[in-house]
Amino acid sequence: MERKPNRTAAALLLVLLLLCGLFAGCQPAAEPAGPDAEGLYLCEKSFFAMDTYISYRVWGTSEEEAKDYGVLLEETFTRIAGMTDRFDPDSELSKVNAAGSEGLAVSAELLEMAELAIDWKVRTNGAFQVLLGSLSDLWNIGGEDPKVPEKTAIAAELQKLSEARLTLRGSVLSVEPEGVILDLGAVAKGYAADAAAKALRQAGCKRALIDAGGTVITIGTKTGGQLWTIGLQDPKEPQKLAGIIESADKALVTSGDYQRYFEQDGTRYHHIFDPETGYPANRLHAVTVLAESAALGDILSTALFVMGPEEGYQLACQLSSEGLAEVLFTLPDYSQKITPGWPGKR
Ligand code: AMP
Ligand code: MG
Repeated sequence: MERKPNRTAAALLLVLLLLCGLFAGCQPAAEPAGPDAEGLYLCEKSFFAMDTYISYRVWGTSEEEAKDYGVLLEETFTRIAGMTDRFDPDSELSKVNAAGSEGLAVSAELLEMAELAIDWKVRTNGAFQVLLGSLSDLWNIGGEDPKVPEKTAIAAELQKLSEARLTLRGSVLSVEPEGVILDLGAVAKGYAADAAAKALRQAGCKRALIDAGGTVITIGTKTGGQLWTIGLQDPKEPQKLAGIIESADKALVTSGDYQRYFEQDGTRYHHIFDPETGYPANRLHAVTVLAESAALGDILSTALFVMGPEEGYQLACQLSSEGLAEVLFTLPDYSQKITPGWPGKR
């Protein structure tokens, strides 16, 4: 199956986010070219990967160092994007899918994503299900001319899912039975953001902000030790902001029904599926997760979205008490529900 990247929507989103001041506190036009009060130079760019415009701001102790950090960030992101692109027959993920039950020895990074997927499938009671690639293909959300599939085709996918297994033996990853497709779309972007942040920190970068469309990760603080101010997109009117949070050294990840969808007979069908029904999950409009790891935030935003305002909220409160994540749910009436440690919104 061929997939056309949704560049127009991604470009629009980027423009809207910039207009809405996602990078509040960093005004591109007013930013001085030279060093700031802490002697740091800014490199600011955007690039296209994983169907999204990814914009970033990295600071270094010289202009050259800042640029080098930018190159490192883009290389890291692009490498993980390439590895997890299931529409590229040469990607590592496609090779795993092609190997099926025979299994394939995978890289440390793919192994880590698979381990996370296996663990969080259990902890989310099956809501996080990375083996729904063929269900996703059947719906073809974001592709050309998507339509609600026949009920019998969805039932066949559910039957396939009931037998689907993702297994790790050492570093050998296998997908069974025949026809089941591993899709890491709900974790790869967060994982790539973490990998980029880790590479930057290891290289000595002290301050950065990466916005990968619904996944924002920061390193350090703004000049003078101030927290980053991050705008939250309004799920009802995505060109507006629903709130603002302040954070440092954290990832903020959102899954929402407005990010990728089509409409048929007045109903919106989006890209996050309930593995129990085979239809897009319909209990929430959005879930935003604040966590140390963007990969975890990515997994949780998808899984809690599927689990909904009761079961999902229960798990979110447990995660909050464990210090793993704070969560904001946007309910069917667009009101919000937050976990006890959510940093507050204005
Ligand atoms: P996200 O935007 O992070 O919520 O991820 C959505 C993407 O993850 C979709 O485009 C699918 O590729 C995949 N996906 C959809 N539903 C699920 C699910 N229940 N569990 C895991 N992955 C999913
Ligand atoms: Mg996700």
